Amino acid sequence: MDQAMLSVVRAVEAGATTMKGVIDATGLSRLKIERALTALEKQKLLIRDGQGFRATGLPKAARPARQCGSCNACCDILEVTAVDKPVNQLCRHWQKGTGCTIYDRRPQMCRSFTCAWLQGHLDDDWFPDKAGLVVHFSQDAVNVTVDDDCPERWRDEPYFSKLAEWSLNGIRRIGNRGYATLVVSGTERFLLLGRTVVPEPTPFGTAFVPLTADTFRFWKATSQEHLQRLHERIAEIERIRQEFGSCAIPESEDDDPQAPYRPALLRQSNHA
Ligand code: SF4
Ligand code: SF4
Repeated sequence: MDQAMLSVVRAVEAGATTMKGVIDATGLSRLKIERALTALEKQKLLIRDGQGFRATGLPKAARPARQCGSCNACCDILEVTAVDKPVNQLCRHWQKGTGCTIYDRRPQMCRSFTCAWLQGHLDDDWFPDKAGLVVHFSQDAVNVTVDDDCPERWRDEPYFSKLAEWSLNGIRRIGNRGYATLVVSGTERFLLLGRTVVPEPTPFGTAFVPLTADTFRFWKATSQEHLQRLHERIAEIERIRQEFGSCAIPESEDDDPQAPYRPALLRQSNHA
């Protein structure tokens, strides 16, 4: 069963009985929904009749493994611009005992949101209500938003090691759909490079070289040109490492010599 079919059948199971209802619940195009409906009918997983759509039951493996239950962390911790909800402030539409009071007309971003725990990517230590962390995936990042009641929680175990592991996976896949691992805690933002934490990464990017298997020396770029220069320096470091087995890594975060770097890097390496 493909993703569109799964989304459609979940929407129908959640109470959508019309094309409009399924569009609202899934955000999919009419054409994609029509295709999914036809395929589901063929597999006898869905019935369309005068009363609308009815699901006849999903195979067990395709059922969502988890439910939000007592959790309302995404309505509390995340920013939801569509309802003017800032980060770490309970949504004004959320009410104890009722939940979302505008459920049927909640914005698309609320409808389509599922955190990484709900998707089954994380074990129960990460249940957002308990962990104080909401993890979700975007196209090119793992995003971690931290409850401001426990702003340092992400640095604790088992969380930090898992985030460091994800970060390494994301770095190793650069050029092949790599991703960044980003943490937002209150007004602070962090980029993880393995176990190395980059505070307040700039929008221009961060250049880095490995120091150990899971730590890095990094430089935050202040412009596109700066990032380019930093990458040239790092390429030179890598070449010297390959040629001589090692290369001194400039100590300072601000250390940004103009090219050519090779003579300066070799001089530093000889003194090391
Ligand atoms: S944070 Fe995850 S588990 Fe909690 S309410 Fe949101 S989607 Fe559900
Ligand atoms: S609109 Fe509803 S689902 Fe969206 S954040 Fe507010 S309470 Fe949560």
